[in-house]
Amino acid sequence: MTSPVSADLFARAQQVIPSGVNSPVRAFGSVGGTPPFLTEAAGALLRDADGTEYVDLVGSWGPMILGHANPQVVEAVREAAGRGLSFGAPQPGEVSLAEEVTRRIGPVEQLRLVNSGTEATMSALRVARAATGRDVIVKFAGCYHGHVDALLAEAGSGVATFAMPGSAGVTAATAKDTVVLPYGDREAVSALFAERGGEIAAVITEAAPANMGVVPPREEDGVGFNRFLAETAHAAGALLISDEVLTGFRASREGYYGVDGPTGAEDAWAPDLMTFGKVIGGGLPVGAFGGREDLMALLAPAGPVYQAGTLSGNPLATAAGLATLSGLDEAAYEVLGSASRTLQQMVAEALTTAGVPHVVQTAGTLFSVFFREEPVHSYADAKAQDTEAFTRFFHAMLEGGIYLPPSAFEAWFVSTAHTPEVLDRIAEALPRAARAAAQR
Ligand SMILES: *Cc1c(COP(=O)(O)O)cnc(C)c1O
Repeated sequence: MTSPVSADLFARAQQVIPSGVNSPVRAFGSVGGTPPFLTEAAGALLRDADGTEYVDLVGSWGPMILGHANPQVVEAVREAAGRGLSFGAPQPGEVSLAEEVTRRIGPVEQLRLVNSGTEATMSALRVARAATGRDVIVKFAGCYHGHVDALLAEAGSGVATFAMPGSAGVTAATAKDTVVLPYGDREAVSALFAERGGEIAAVITEAAPANMGVVPPREEDGVGFNRFLAETAHAAGALLISDEVLTGFRASREGYYGVDGPTGAEDAWAPDLMTFGKVIGGGLPVGAFGGREDLMALLAPAGPVYQAGTLSGNPLATAAGLATLSGLDEAAYEVLGSASRTLQQMVAEALTTAGVPHVVQTAGTLFSVFFREEPVHSYADAKAQDTEAFTRFFHAMLEGGIYLPPSAFEAWFVSTAHTPEVLDRIAEALPRAARAAAQR
């Protein structure tokens, strides 16, 4: 497939933008080839600068959960734009968006809006350290929490895609305060708390890891991993930060907390702080962190923890986020769940027919495909997949007009615009791509 316009744009981009991109995975570094430069999108479809059309399974990595250029969302943004692009002062949309989030998600009593998921996790760490007077943060290998210095060690997403141990430019002092444990390893968590519990400010985890592929937390003796983390942290006076930047408002109406949160008083548990991004901005730059009121009260100006943003709570961004959340009613989650399940079955069937080892893993309506036989429970498992088979599959899908995440370590994103007709187009491309994956 030749894409002369994208190729020319990529060449120009590489002159003035490092690697030609503003976020690493977009460069197609791990799969090779030229990334299509996208010019338009509507519903589940994308169009690139060469006029080629694709079915989108990236959805801007999550935010486009109602499909691209959703009329209600676009109208809300257009209307907001007509009233002014930014005030740097309180505006009503911020209140409505925070109210909607606190209504949906029990543990979030108060919420502050920022401009990205990275800012959300960075700010949550600061609150946790201030609240506990402790320095150490515990994270899990393969979990991605944005490009916060302290959280880049053995991170998922692009860090996983490019097999990086972490990032250069992070000081030893910063790295020293981050302890990385294998995901799901309760013994390692208990051992660390036994030894250093008094130094630990917080454990941060993706509510359901989805940046090493989807690796849902597992239950043991009826206790989910997230609840175990909350109880272990709390027993030591530490906090649990649940990162729902990716799963929030996607895994279910209440995010992954709606999937594995308590069902009654007898199993009551809650993260102390939660972080959001992606869906909450409906495609505009929004992140948020929230949680217990006493913790959020530590923020300036009332409290001693400084945190701010010139464009935070921007009126266009809150309009897009609110319109997106209002479109996400029960019916929308049913459509999403059904599209997700149908797609999972189609992919599994095509790969099975072609004899390609694979496993499909889900977290609520979210899913991903690993190119290996056995289930994936950790980052080590995720890395032990056939990324070359994925690369062949990826390129055959792209040639078949299907735009997948250009990495074996990313979730696949459906939207409410992935109608049966759209799914049929994916079904048509799958057999050839599965055969390509099978060839070596
Ligand atoms: C995407 C993501 C982030 C970072 O969000 P940005 O808006 O890209 O900074 C943080 N945590 C998780 C779980 C994510 O998926």
